[in-house]
Amino acid sequence: MRCPFCDSNNTKVVDTRHDAQGNVRRRRECSDCEQRFSTVERAILTNPLVIKRDGRREEFDVDKLMSGLRIACARRPISAAHLDRVVERVEYAIRQTGRTEVSSQMIGDIVIEELRQLDEVAYIRYAIVYMGLKDLESIRAEIDRLRAQRHYQ
Ligand SMILES: [Zn+2]
Repeated sequence: MRCPFCDSNNTKVVDTRHDAQGNVRRRRECSDCEQRFSTVERAILTNPLVIKRDGRREEFDVDKLMSGLRIACARRPISAAHLDRVVERVEYAIRQTGRTEVSSQMIGDIVIEELRQLDEVAYIRYAIVYMGLKDLESIRAEIDRLRAQRHYQ
């Protein structure tokens, strides 16, 4: 670690502690100019790769997920906090797998499940795009399934 005051490479750690966020904080001292400074170490979470239906891989993109959600939830009574929570659930689930590659199907399933509980219209919109409900029949079947489920709740 270089000294931020004199650019010397001759620095040493004088104290190490964990802060409230779980980061490692080190107090350092420069042996040349004797200035002290702190550094914080935190984990870098690498973005997993998402395996798409056609086998192509792309980096998991929170912004892309969020814009898909916004489109599905347009003009529906769903707050930004709700959408943030859906995104958090997806990120958490990906981390839980411990894998560096996850399928787009898995992400879609989580989102669908969250939207199903939030708002039926948003759920159907998302399902049409991401579950590939292409024809009226399969969309209708999904709506019927929803209705039946609601009936039993
Ligand atoms: Zn220095």
